[in-house]
Amino acid sequence: MACGDPKALAKIAILDPELTISQPRSVATLTALDALSHALESSVCTKRNPISSAYSRESFRLIASSISSILDGSATIEQRSRMLLGAAMAGSAIENSMLGAAHATANPLTALFDVPHGHAVALTLPHVIRFNTEDPEAASIYDDFSRYLGEPLIEWLENIIATAKLRPLSIDTSRIPELTAAALPQWTGKFNPRPITEADVTSIYHAALTVA
Ligand SMILES: [Zn+2]
Repeated sequence: MACGDPKALAKIAILDPELTISQPRSVATLTALDALSHALESSVCTKRNPISSAYSRESFRLIASSISSILDGSATIEQRSRMLLGAAMAGSAIENSMLGAAHATANPLTALFDVPHGHAVALTLPHVIRFNTEDPEAASIYDDFSRYLGEPLIEWLENIIATAKLRPLSIDTSRIPELTAAALPQWTGKFNPRPITEADVTSIYHAALTVA
């Protein structure tokens, strides 16, 4: 879901890392993966602009430099602060732009199969990034992230998701037509850098459900 009603906009955000210490590891993991997806999806969406891109870039740096410690439970207060600020800035990136096909294909997994949002988006994001890499401008933005990381973005991302040890899903591939039908009208998908067709969505689900 993406909510476009200004009444739903936060007026203030309290970013106190001490409040996250008692957060269950599973919640920290899934919200960190979601924040990462927000930084990456907003960075390439068709509504990106210099303001949103600055938020996307900085949020990615903050999240990338702290996510491993969040996932393995060793995060210091400083690392928790970086993740919190990164997550908030990724939210500002979305507010100033939009999301894309990873959210459009993740949302039906949540709506139809109760897959937590962060888990669903972690399943679809790598396949959407591979799909988007065919777009030269998106590929160049991903290259910037790869340079920052010192390794290809997709490899780093898949490694991060693997260390999250998400529980395997048992969604039969026979349900893909149902998922695809629910994904195609999703609002966020309209802002993906490459337009997505029914065949594209089907193959993203195939990859997400069989690899997972
Ligand atoms: Zn999300």
